[in-house]
Amino acid sequence: MTIDAIAFAGSKLDRADHIRTSPDALRDLMDWRARVLELDGLEPVVTPEGTLSWRTIGSVPEGSELIFLGLDGTRGCFAAVPSENPAGAMVPTPHARELMDLLHSDELATWGVARAMVSWHARHRFCARCGHTTVLAKGGWQRNCTFETCGGEHFPRVDPVAIMLVEHEGAMLLGRQPRFPAGRYSALAGFVEPGETIEEAVAREVFEEAGVRVRDVNYVMSQPWPFPSSLMIGCHAHADDPAIVVDRTELDDARWFTRAEVAEAMDAVGRDEPVGAFHAPPPTAVAHHLLKWWLAKG
Ligand SMILES: [Zn+2]
Repeated sequence: MTIDAIAFAGSKLDRADHIRTSPDALRDLMDWRARVLELDGLEPVVTPEGTLSWRTIGSVPEGSELIFLGLDGTRGCFAAVPSENPAGAMVPTPHARELMDLLHSDELATWGVARAMVSWHARHRFCARCGHTTVLAKGGWQRNCTFETCGGEHFPRVDPVAIMLVEHEGAMLLGRQPRFPAGRYSALAGFVEPGETIEEAVAREVFEEAGVRVRDVNYVMSQPWPFPSSLMIGCHAHADDPAIVVDRTELDDARWFTRAEVAEAMDAVGRDEPVGAFHAPPPTAVAHHLLKWWLAKG
């Protein structure tokens, strides 16, 4: 089965790792043809046509650090970390939902990597080992400590989040977080912790949040989620005992929904009409694609 475009996946830029490690190749790319993604804080500037806006390297403020996003054909594409007030790049992204609906999927992916990277650079200007300043290295895919005796090297992080469909005799366990819109239920999720496999994180999170024990955890699909830099790892698991004990500090509610209820809720996504048992997550969320996958597999 083919999976529909996953939001923030599928950038058409070639990440060209060999260029990151070659200062000469990087310098050669920073010519008049190079493009720098235009950002306002961490949000992209969008053209009247609804596409990402780019500017020339020459128009980037003096002293900005440039992150090499990748190659568009033979042309280098970059994002700039502001030299003045880099903390400005850490502000929230109030229009994220509108941007997800507006931008074409490959452009959304390009913004996603730029957002994650600019945010990481803005938050890592000082060495976590010794507190001295750090400078950008390897085209922005590393920061190095400037204190010689420390020599700390820092790399952009990705934070893994397990998100899981749990099935019991054809029914699906979904939960409600307090911040969800009215009626919304979605897959349970939580950060993978140090020392855990993905499978262990799935089992722990489902038990912590809903009191349900699971077995046979399988990976299904994933989604980069640049707020600030998560990787959503979509899984499926089985439960033998459907008894639920909701952790009210994490969830408003968790319930089993029948296949028919899930199908009806998914059918209603994007339609302006009353829905049945619950509101399903939107297509920009990997939970939506997981539910679609589950319905299709029968
Ligand atoms: Zn250091």
